[in-house]
Amino acid sequence: MAARDIILEGSRWQIGDGQSINIRNHKWLPRPPLFKPGVDTLLKVGDLIDQQTNKWNRPLIQNTFMQSTQEDILSIRLGDPQTPNILCWAKNKAQRFTVRSAYLVALRLNHDGGGEHSKAQDDKRFWHKMWKMDVPPKVRTFLWRACSEILPTWANLARRRIPIEPHCDICRHEEETVCHVLWECPLAVNVWALVKGKLQKCTVAAPDFYSLARQMKGQLTVKELEVWAMVSWSIWNARNRFYFEQKQSQPADILHGAMTLLQDYQRLSKLLILAFSHM
Ligand SMILES: [Zn+2]
Repeated sequence: MAARDIILEGSRWQIGDGQSINIRNHKWLPRPPLFKPGVDTLLKVGDLIDQQTNKWNRPLIQNTFMQSTQEDILSIRLGDPQTPNILCWAKNKAQRFTVRSAYLVALRLNHDGGGEHSKAQDDKRFWHKMWKMDVPPKVRTFLWRACSEILPTWANLARRRIPIEPHCDICRHEEETVCHVLWECPLAVNVWALVKGKLQKCTVAAPDFYSLARQMKGQLTVKELEVWAMVSWSIWNARNRFYFEQKQSQPADILHGAMTLLQDYQRLSKLLILAFSHM
């Protein structure tokens, strides 16, 4: 891993006049910014600062960013606008570059995908297991779309600059990401609470659905993984019925539908294997 990658990963821009820092591409916030749909993301950080008062331009920030990012920005104290923007080491309180803190960043990069070779191997193993699951092909395809973030949740559509509100209408609380709708939303939580076995008590938290799926693969047996895939698919269908047919599904019905389909499918595929083996 290149030292440059470690330094860039572990550093953050400290804002002086903010003129050369792009709000989307530069690292200036503690976590990546979330934008409201259709806004200008080519702005510079300096554009968000009122030049007269040297204070944050709150209305512009409120119009541009989602709530969590607004809070991240407004908690940054602005210094002297005459000072240049400085790239600072952000991995310890003293902002002092130490070998230990750099080592921790390197470890994380390696784990999250900095080590590209091992990541590719991991991905390959993961998908091999997923494609071998004894679930209907449409469920495997669904899982692949969910992991690739191409499932049309409101948040994914907003990211593609479709002017819609990315929030979940089921709980009216969070952004509707894939992970939210299939795992964290109260509707999903109520369904998972009814599943027997390890999944019922599973309290995995993940930044996105692919990470969640990776953790599931690590913790569940093949049979449990099949139930997880099938129920996720069933929750997604219930979500679509809610938005497009104005029908609310009960958690027990969502689970029952998934389990019945899974049992029927597995019974049929066993019969087919038997029939072909006797030909
Ligand atoms: Zn929700």
